[in-house]
Amino acid sequence: MPKPDAETIRKSIVYKLIFILGIDPKDATEHQWLNAAMLAARDLIAEDFLKTRRAHIDNGKRMVYYLSMEFLLGRAFVNALINEGVYAEFEEAFKQLGKEFSDICEEEQDPGLGNGGLGRLAACFLDSLATLRIPAMGYGIRYQYGMFKQEIVDGQQVEKPDLWLDQDLAWQFARPNKQYSIKFGGNVQNDNGKKAWHPNEEVSAWAYDEIIPGYGGSVANPLRLWTAHAGNLFDLDDFNKGDYHSAVRAQNSDENITRVLYPNDSTDSGKELRLKQEYFLVSASVQDIVARHKCRFPDIRTLADEAAIHLNDTHPVLAIPELMRILIDEEGIEWTEAWNMCCKIFSYTNHTLMSEALETWPVDLMNRLLPRHLDIIYEINAYFLNALRAGGNFDDDFISRVSIIDESHGRRIRMGWLAVIGSHKINGVAKIHSDLMVNTIFADFAKIFPERFTNVTNGVTPRRWINIANPELTAFLDKHLGEQDWRLHLDNLTKLNKSAADAKVQAKFSAVKKAAKARLAKYIETELGITVNTDALFDVQIKRIHEYKRQALNVMHIIDRYNKILENPDADWQPRVFIFAGKAASAYYMAKKIIRLINDVARTINNDTRIRDLIKVVYIPNYSVSLAQIIIPAADLHEQISLAGTEASGTSNMKFALNGAICIGTLDGANVEILEKVGADHCYIFGNTVEQVEEIRRKGYDPLGYIERDHDLRRVVNQISQGTFSPEEPARYNDVLQPYGDFYQLMADFRSYIDTQAKVDAHYADQAAWRKSALINIANMGFFSSDRSIAEYCRNIWYIEPLSEQELPASR
Ligand SMILES: *Cc1c(COP(=O)(O)O)cnc(C)c1O
Repeated sequence: MPKPDAETIRKSIVYKLIFILGIDPKDATEHQWLNAAMLAARDLIAEDFLKTRRAHIDNGKRMVYYLSMEFLLGRAFVNALINEGVYAEFEEAFKQLGKEFSDICEEEQDPGLGNGGLGRLAACFLDSLATLRIPAMGYGIRYQYGMFKQEIVDGQQVEKPDLWLDQDLAWQFARPNKQYSIKFGGNVQNDNGKKAWHPNEEVSAWAYDEIIPGYGGSVANPLRLWTAHAGNLFDLDDFNKGDYHSAVRAQNSDENITRVLYPNDSTDSGKELRLKQEYFLVSASVQDIVARHKCRFPDIRTLADEAAIHLNDTHPVLAIPELMRILIDEEGIEWTEAWNMCCKIFSYTNHTLMSEALETWPVDLMNRLLPRHLDIIYEINAYFLNALRAGGNFDDDFISRVSIIDESHGRRIRMGWLAVIGSHKINGVAKIHSDLMVNTIFADFAKIFPERFTNVTNGVTPRRWINIANPELTAFLDKHLGEQDWRLHLDNLTKLNKSAADAKVQAKFSAVKKAAKARLAKYIETELGITVNTDALFDVQIKRIHEYKRQALNVMHIIDRYNKILENPDADWQPRVFIFAGKAASAYYMAKKIIRLINDVARTINNDTRIRDLIKVVYIPNYSVSLAQIIIPAADLHEQISLAGTEASGTSNMKFALNGAICIGTLDGANVEILEKVGADHCYIFGNTVEQVEEIRRKGYDPLGYIERDHDLRRVVNQISQGTFSPEEPARYNDVLQPYGDFYQLMADFRSYIDTQAKVDAHYADQAAWRKSALINIANMGFFSSDRSIAEYCRNIWYIEPLSEQELPASR
């Protein structure tokens, strides 16, 4: 189909409104117009989607299946228009209809199917997979309630349910013919020498396909999301006896499996329902992968040649025993052959080194829910440990450390160990993280399988994080680079290096930044009633609230600055607006307390007239992809201040630098590589290194020593703990800084952080120098495109080739 013009699109939208949605255009709300427009856009992509599917079947190409408990997609509509190259036409069509296009787009809700970085990474990867024409499919869960909606009431986080499915689902195709039975419980019997699982509970998994269009049209891949439906609808006996409630009780409890996303981004929730969710995702997806293979090929034994399955963190690791079960129990393949297939098929990305976040499940629970899988896990473990013993190089202590079963904490299954033993490649998400991974948590395994461990540094998609989020920067780059190809070849941005010092270019960039800051200022004014000065330095920290990310250290700097302005009001202070956003897991006491502290500090300082406009502190509620798209382009400085060794990669650091913000950060995660690319003059690094942090711990960390030696620090700590910011309840924050022994070493990094912030002020005062640094950041961030990450996965981990132009011709 040729690219449609605005007139055709307008007609299509009106047609959808009348004949599909049944609404008179005269009465239609903006939300209904949006739904009609999404249906019109979906028609354009559906063609690509079906052609892509056909190409996968006809060409029999090896495919990658990306399994993740989270996909934080953000809005789909504008993304689809940009990727299909019809944004201007839709905008024009709405002009003809007399509607404000941006208001229509604002009607779309974010589907909150993820918590944070891990889910957003999966979403960037789907965009790159489609754009690079990789034969790929995502698998996830269609939670009825996604991430909670955050409100800030009296300075505190309040969680509200997010009814995202309420919005009409113009974007997904229901697949009523794709249903799989997911079984739980029961027991395992020996039937004629063969193990047979007799489950006693059954739910059905129904598929919905979300279409993921690649940039430039032609390829659209599916993200298949599963929803739970009660196996046997309800007990007719109970119903006939008049007991309606019992009749539907079973149905409700089965359907609970896909009710909610666990609002938890790194600690183990330890909930039975969570284990059921994980198995539900895995079983439906693996059954589907096997069925798809049988559709395309005659022999299940060739599965390892045709399919790569990727495990995004340990959450979907049960896919390994599930595939073993299907191959052995259902396909009759012998154990060793099945195991060799699995080890070729699976690969695994590790996302955290923090031991409390490494998933383990009690053996008892596994036995109750998935007895056959427990059997298989035991067998895998025995096979693995026997081979080690036979090799004779490892002592008993080593063997018990690498055993999948942890005997020291009441018998638990270590999911990370299972992932490593069953995968042919294991990667970390930034260089420093991958190095630490093989030196710490997986050190023993790195001795056994050195060839398995590798690194793929994360990336982000420039389509969403520049093209959609920052239209002014997009226009600037198109014009300045004289091409639009940078969206696909982000390294092209290096051409900016040579004009970073050019005053004319800087002036244009300055207008770009100003426009984004004005947009954010307007949002803050409308949503929070706070007026901010757009000439002030916008200092931003937006991410999940977690002690390791050290939002509290940021607050300590704000308080110190407040103190110093009051002491010396006439000095030449650089006005700053401190912007925070982020959600805390609902059960995470300390994170919620930190949110409250930020808001109490904001209230105190914003209302202190002596400070004038020199400091404003703003907490923007309900952080999401769409909010990130407003905030990131407006940042001058971004805070990446986790304790060294704790942040696996970070990806907001990449989004910010791409949008011309300068980093203040520790040598942690991808900050290390950003520093390498943009250079030390354009990136502010402070604080202890991983080695120094370790050494401090080894020698016995003494936070009080730092407090005694540093007057500024002592003053800040006293103010927080003695109630300067909570006079109505002076003890409110007396547990925030000390009693947990300052595990994340805020006191040790305080001085270096404060001194580095002073350097930032001086740099910002020289606007020409600052703009130059901002431009140099943009110019050298090409490496951090998720296209580069995906190309590395394809080459080094999945062994997958893109569809060629012959296999799938371009559509327009
Ligand atoms: C990028 C992104 C993240 C990850 O942020 P980090 O600072 O890397 O932790 C989390 N949430 C949203 C909505 C994002 O867009």
